[in-house]
Amino acid sequence: MEIINNIEDYKEILRNEIKNDNLVIFPTETVYGIGANALSEEAVKKIFDVKTRACNNPLIVHLKSKDEIEKYAYIEQEIEKKLIDAFIPGPITIILKKKDCIPGCVTASLDTVGIRVPENNIANRFLEIVDYPIAAPSANISSRPSGTKVDDIKDEFEGKVGYIIDGGESQIGLESTVIKVIDGIPTILRPGFITREMIEEVIGICNISKHVLREVENEKVESPGMMYKHYAPKTKCLLVYSKDINTLRELVKDNLINKTIILGSKKLKDIKCYKFIDYGDTLESISHNIFSKLRECDMYHANLIIIEGVEKVGLGLAIMNRLIRTSEFNYIEK
Ligand code: AMP
Ligand code: MG
Repeated sequence: MEIINNIEDYKEILRNEIKNDNLVIFPTETVYGIGANALSEEAVKKIFDVKTRACNNPLIVHLKSKDEIEKYAYIEQEIEKKLIDAFIPGPITIILKKKDCIPGCVTASLDTVGIRVPENNIANRFLEIVDYPIAAPSANISSRPSGTKVDDIKDEFEGKVGYIIDGGESQIGLESTVIKVIDGIPTILRPGFITREMIEEVIGICNISKHVLREVENEKVESPGMMYKHYAPKTKCLLVYSKDINTLRELVKDNLINKTIILGSKKLKDIKCYKFIDYGDTLESISHNIFSKLRECDMYHANLIIIEGVEKVGLGLAIMNRLIRTSEFNYIEK
């Protein structure tokens, strides 16, 4: 696999890779994506194979500009238009009714498609250069933490992907907010950097899908990605949260076993354990660091990772949505 540092030197190669139905890994402001021509079934199939992704988990289509949206999807409602005007380009995916040119394998046979226009110079330049809509999920083998820097993911895709464009560490570090207008109300299917509060400010109202913080059982789910084991290191995890610092520390101490890593903020730094890993002290730094730190934990061959939870408001909701799945719903809150 070749690592590209200057995209301008590889214009021709990248264009040909995508045109020939191959995969390219590229940076965005959220996480790295593993991309292919969204209009080619053969190219899209490669994404599912390489990631070992379930075929009923739809892909997001990335476009170079918001002017392109109506080539691939219908903007049928005024609220959809308002969301697009307010938040795109940016770290958000809007679910719209798809047009026929988008093959069913991209959308897991749904009649809707997730559309995203990134706000990252390298991603936008890549999309401009290749000049195809790019179907791209996060660059990680399914169930593993999403890739937020090249060193974390290059081995995972060695021999399977020819080129990876290096854009440094992803600024945000968590995948895009996924939003769909349901019964006239914007509904967050997956929380992200664009928060409920930000959407309420523009639209006045915003719902959150009940699956965001809860396990999906045998029921209809609007966001298929919520069904799977996700974002997980190889080591078993326990997520703990309390607003009260003393209760939080007690929760951690009560659950320590032999070779436990504590992954959290400075509040827990002095608790005696196998290894303490600092994930930052603000929601922004935690979101930026979390996937890479989860991958780092696996290097120590521990028996348990105790992860400090955060309050589920603002960006905290997105962090907890991921961490609850990281720990496979092994979660204590007091
Ligand atoms: P990933 O790119 O790996 O972050 O996964 C994309 C996620 O976006 C999927 O797991 C779905 O939850 C969501 N998604 C993509 N397309 C649709 C769609 N048409 N309807 C609902 N959710 C979608
Ligand atoms: Mg993913």
